Amino acid sequence: MTMPKQMQAIVYGGPGVKSLETVATPKIQQPTDAIIKIVKTTICGTDLHILKGDVPAVTKGRILGHEGVGIVEEVGSAVTRFKKGDRVLISCVSACGKCGYCKKQLYAHCEDGGWILGHLIDGTQAEYVRTPHADNSLYHVPEGADEEALVMLSDILPTGFEIGVLYGAVKPGDTVAIIGAGPIGMAALLTAQFFSPARLIMVDVDESRLAMAKTFGATDVINSATGDAVAELLAMTKDGIDVVIEAVGIAATFDICQRVVRPAGHIANVGVHGTSVDLQLQDLWIKNITLTTGLVNTNTTDMLMKNVQSGKLKPAELITHRFAFAEFMRAYEVFGNASKEKALKVMIDNS
Ligand SMILES: [Zn+2]
Ligand SMILES: [Zn+2]
Repeated sequence: MTMPKQMQAIVYGGPGVKSLETVATPKIQQPTDAIIKIVKTTICGTDLHILKGDVPAVTKGRILGHEGVGIVEEVGSAVTRFKKGDRVLISCVSACGKCGYCKKQLYAHCEDGGWILGHLIDGTQAEYVRTPHADNSLYHVPEGADEEALVMLSDILPTGFEIGVLYGAVKPGDTVAIIGAGPIGMAALLTAQFFSPARLIMVDVDESRLAMAKTFGATDVINSATGDAVAELLAMTKDGIDVVIEAVGIAATFDICQRVVRPAGHIANVGVHGTSVDLQLQDLWIKNITLTTGLVNTNTTDMLMKNVQSGKLKPAELITHRFAFAEFMRAYEVFGNASKEKALKVMIDNS
């Protein structure tokens, strides 16, 4: 089947505005590009940040989305690892594989890539997407894989694992607190368990998300809307928390982290912050703590995929709602009202 000249896509129209529109189908621009027919895609919290106007680099007319699984429709002349018909996972980060950052596996900062899909170039909330640097930015879908589960590997699982769990240096026996039970917090919760922490405490304001966190392996949950999360976390431990993972991105949740971290502990910030925080350096300077930040590098995607394939990691459990591609606007409505709708990840099907 040949590619149609036009397709449907979610187009950003400036802060607060998005629509499902008919647009031109993407074309190969560089020999390293591929064109992928989207089979499954989803909506990220980052897309909601963009729609709020928090990411001004996203301009009107941009197709949103940076997650998905699809089928290779066409490849540029320099692509060697993929061919038409291959089923692929699309990474949220594009990597040239050659620059200084790529050589250090810091793909987030690739000089000709990084997080550009649905940001600086058109993204995956479309029937077709152009993926730059296809050889280094796509992954073969293993035979018989659950493709919905793999969509969780485009962004949220590597983000929660790399920036939360690995940067936080979670170790066996640690007490770990995750602030924010959204998809990224849940991804950190699932992958922190690789390292057998003694306690995994989830903090959120939403009771239904806290109940889900318990089914995903949280040993304790704290509702920070009804209680004092700092006092409760400190009361649970002798001298504070070994690893605190910030998975919200507001000053109030960062503040919980800096008040509960124990001496020599780690604060791993994963949240997307739109405003400054008040760093309590007068208390922290003496505590030998480590504070990390970061954008996902996706250098652990292969490893995570093996654990999904073996059944050790079950990210499909994060999917709460499913929609047909034509219902994309409804999917945004549900994801945008996550608390009321009891939504975590929404899956959009274009197969
Ligand atoms: Zn995302
Ligand atoms: Zn690069």
